[in-house]
Amino acid sequence: MGCLDRKNALVTGGARGIGAAIVRRLAGEGAYVGFVYRGAADAADALVREVEDAGGRAFAMQGDVADSASVAEIFAFCDEKFGAAPNLDILINNAGIGSDGQDASLKSGSEELFDRMMAVNVKGPYLVTQAALPRLRDNGRIVNIGSISGKVAQHFAAGYAMTKRALQSLTFSTATQVARRGITCNLVAPGAVATDFIAKLRERPGFDESNANATPMGRMGQPDDIAGAVLMLCREEARWVTGNIIEAAGGLAI
Ligand code: NDP
Repeated sequence: MGCLDRKNALVTGGARGIGAAIVRRLAGEGAYVGFVYRGAADAADALVREVEDAGGRAFAMQGDVADSASVAEIFAFCDEKFGAAPNLDILINNAGIGSDGQDASLKSGSEELFDRMMAVNVKGPYLVTQAALPRLRDNGRIVNIGSISGKVAQHFAAGYAMTKRALQSLTFSTATQVARRGITCNLVAPGAVATDFIAKLRERPGFDESNANATPMGRMGQPDDIAGAVLMLCREEARWVTGNIIEAAGGLAI
């Protein structure tokens, strides 16, 4: 028996990194988990097999959260798998992109990169949440994956930081929209987490060490550190916690 038995969950960006850890956690607690990937088809297939081998249930869907037609297809596929709406208990808006080593600074970051980050990190969760609302069952859960970047000044990644601040705003708006139905909406804000997302930054000598040193708990985050915080919010016990930003960052930026 898991704490999420009989719950249906949708995770965007679930094939790799933090999203994959969330898929494992939710499925491990008994949820039936659909997850969206953009390009990582092999990783998605492998994760579905891994979940099934562990006795859980999951399915993968290719899609682009920044494209409304693709979002409609994602939810049509979910309706096939989960059955007639309302059919969703948990939505995790996790998919996101960063600068991936490109210049994203306020001084000289490109317009193209800014637009793409806004599309995936802001428009994406907006479209996905909008499509999820009529499908969510009462007492459901929405968790948005933001970032500590949404809290602190970051001239070196100003555009990315803006997208994560915008996601905080979506979290507050969503929380009030769904509150009367017992649905909660919160944002989990990670600090640096060891995934492909920051692979290029981690190639810089001393990056990991200085990050660990800047973190009161003395190490960098791992994907499951974030998945644990997400699971905490999805549990029945978190039913009165809504409209919050939960920092999962080892005390960074307190
Ligand atoms: P990864 O780069 O490891 O994974 C990103 C995921 O997002 C992938 O699964 C990717 O799909 C998916 N994705 C990207 N674009 C789209 C799109 N247009 N449509 C659908 N899916 C898409 O990153 P992380 O796991 O590290 O990041 C997950 C979230 O955590 C992001 O929102 C990020 O901003 C946030 N975060 C990460 C931090 C870190 O240090 N790692 C720190 C703070 C926040 P595919 O695999 O198919 O390409």
